[in-house]
Amino acid sequence: MEMSAQQDNSNLNNVSGSGSCLYDLLSSDTPSWSSQRDRWKSSGPRGRLESLMRQSGNRFCADCGSPDPKWVSTSFGVFICIKCSGIHRSLGVHISKVLSVKLDEWTDEQVDSLVNLGGNTVVNKKYEACIPSNHKKPKQSSSSEDRSDFIRRKYELLQFLDCDEQLSCPFPLSHGINSSSSQTNSSSNNTGQDKKQCEKQGNKNRIGQAFRNSWNRKDSDYKAAKKSNSLAGMVEFVGLIKVNVVKGTNLAVRDVMTSDPYVIIALGHQSVKTRVIKNNLNPVWNESLMLSIPEHAPPLKVLVYDKDTFTTDDFMGEAEIDIQPLLTAAKAYEKSTINESMQLGKSVASKDNSLVKDGIITLEDGMVKQEISLRLQNVERGVLEIELECVPLTQ
Ligand SMILES: [Zn+2]
Repeated sequence: MEMSAQQDNSNLNNVSGSGSCLYDLLSSDTPSWSSQRDRWKSSGPRGRLESLMRQSGNRFCADCGSPDPKWVSTSFGVFICIKCSGIHRSLGVHISKVLSVKLDEWTDEQVDSLVNLGGNTVVNKKYEACIPSNHKKPKQSSSSEDRSDFIRRKYELLQFLDCDEQLSCPFPLSHGINSSSSQTNSSSNNTGQDKKQCEKQGNKNRIGQAFRNSWNRKDSDYKAAKKSNSLAGMVEFVGLIKVNVVKGTNLAVRDVMTSDPYVIIALGHQSVKTRVIKNNLNPVWNESLMLSIPEHAPPLKVLVYDKDTFTTDDFMGEAEIDIQPLLTAAKAYEKSTINESMQLGKSVASKDNSLVKDGIITLEDGMVKQEISLRLQNVERGVLEIELECVPLTQ
């Protein structure tokens, strides 16, 4: 796969959605992931991160106990396994931001903040202080529903939180689940009013406190949480897909002469988007976005919009990509040790799909990739080029 050089990473912070943290890495001009990784190994934050990972408390997933977790919720400072990371990701980045120890580039500040949060043992002591006896922690083999239920109660509803922590009220109790965007760094922003609420509850016993924590919320908030839980929680994630939105060609005009296009990529209930490129009908994004792959993966949806400041964004076309051929190839070659590049298969262009040409699936540097060229549908014109890459669960 060609990773075109792109030096301007200034839009990094504008990329929203899960996995966007990989943007920096993926849009760099280094041709292969492995050489990139090797370079980091000698750098400061990476070395510190890996020694943190080796600490005894961090050798098992903070949520389900699976060995050798390689993902981190930077919001809470815990090392977690890939299955739990999928659930964290589906809570939304405003609750739990997930980074990969291996695939993401870490800054010194991020590692510092991880060190300050204390690691799995310290964090669990706080967030699992009051697990009621009828509630069991999930295990490595637990269903995704049990896993999701626990993770949501632990981090989003904060039902098991330490009573002392509740006294100092790290979480704005009066706020609902859906107004939680203010909680990005959840543990420090409390208001006087919330504090009063906490103090009122101060002398109640621990377990009662844990339950009251959820009862204090509006009933409708809890129902909303339950509902979204059932949507997110039923899904077992089998891997990650990296979608590199390369470029658009001859896109539709939506403003007077031109458009300000951006692309939304959706898979199941997850969606991520690229940055907006102003005044350009042939935009080059070269922007990589990550999505978790659900067990029964629906087609990947691609939507292009024109960003308007004062009105609703205008539609500029859409397409669907069947990712099953790529997943099948990725499964077959997941453990392969073949080093040379080879073609594994292809998605054939036909009038039943929106492919401009056959989507060739290749094995390169041990990664299964596919290049896709899409004719945008339900619009007068426009072609979008995308590269897909599977990141298997073993990563
Ligand atoms: Zn886990």
